[in-house]
Amino acid sequence: MPQVIDNPRELFAATEVWRGRGLRVGLVPTMGALHEGHMSLVAAVRAAGARPVVVSIFVNPLQFGKNEDLAKYPRTFAEDLARCDNHGVEVVYAPAPDAMYPVGFQSHVEVERVTAPFEGEARPTHFRGVTTVVTKLFNATGPCIAAFGRKDYQQWRTLDRMVRDLDMPVEMLGCPIARDEDGLAMSSRNRYLTASERTRAPAIFLGLRAASRAFARGERDRGELERLALAPIRAAFDVIDYAAVADADELTDPGPIAPEASVLLVAAWIGKTRLIDNCRLGSECL
Ligand code: AMP
Repeated sequence: MPQVIDNPRELFAATEVWRGRGLRVGLVPTMGALHEGHMSLVAAVRAAGARPVVVSIFVNPLQFGKNEDLAKYPRTFAEDLARCDNHGVEVVYAPAPDAMYPVGFQSHVEVERVTAPFEGEARPTHFRGVTTVVTKLFNATGPCIAAFGRKDYQQWRTLDRMVRDLDMPVEMLGCPIARDEDGLAMSSRNRYLTASERTRAPAIFLGLRAASRAFARGERDRGELERLALAPIRAAFDVIDYAAVADADELTDPGPIAPEASVLLVAAWIGKTRLIDNCRLGSECL
C-alpha cells in the first residue's frame, strides 16, 4: 500500500530525504474519485523518470463556487488507495481541509488573462483556487515533475503559465485525454450521470470529432467548425455553456486556424451535471 501522509510538513520532510538521494520526485494532483485517466498521469510522470510518485487527493474547497458540487463531490478514499496501490504509487498525500487552509488563511496565487474566458466566465473564482492549491501542493511536495491532464485544458494552460511566470522549478507534463470506449472523456463527475444521461453524454466527443474531421479535410472557417461541433451536442445536452475555437496556447480568439495552433473547447450540461471536453485541431479526435 502507498504511504499515506496527511500534512505538508511531514510530506516535505519525506520528499527531502528522497531528493537528497538524487531521486526525481513526481506529483500528480487530484481531487480523488480516481479513474484510469488519473492513472495515465501516474504512468506519464513515471515514464518521465519520476520516483517516487506522489498522488495528492484533496477536494479543494477554494476552487468550487458557492452553488457548485463541493458537498456532493464523490469521495472514495479506500478505493482510491487500492487503485494507487495497483499502479505502484508510493505516496498518497491526503491533507484535511484545515491542514491546507488553517484559520487565518488569506494568501492566493492568481494568473490573469488565460483564466478570463470560458471556465473563468462560468466559474469566476475557480482558477484562483486551482493555482493556489497547486502552489501549496508544489511547496509541500517539492516535485521535479508534475503531470496534469489536457482534459482540463484551460487549467493546464493556466498552470503551465504560472510555473513559467513564477519560476517554479517543476517540469510540467500535459497529458492526453483518457476516454471510455464510446469517446466520453473519463471524469470523476461521470458518476453523477443517470443511465440515460450516460448514453447521451458521448455526444460531446461526437461533436469534437465531427469538427476535427472537417478540419482534417481542410475546413478552416471557425464558425463552421463550431457549428459542426454543436449539432450533436445540442441534440443530447440540455444547456451548452460554450463550444468555441480558441488559440491553443493563450485561449484568446484564434488567428488563422492552423494545425495544432487551435483548440475546440466545450462545456455543457446534461441534467444537473456539467461536463467539459476539448480537442486540439490537427491530430486529436479523428
Ligand atoms: P481532478 O481529480 O478532476 O481534479 O483531476 C486531476 C488531474 O487528472 C487533472 O490534471 C485532470 O486534468 C486529470 N484528468 C482528469 N480526467 C482525465 C482524463 N480523462 N484524461 C486525462 N487526464 C485527466
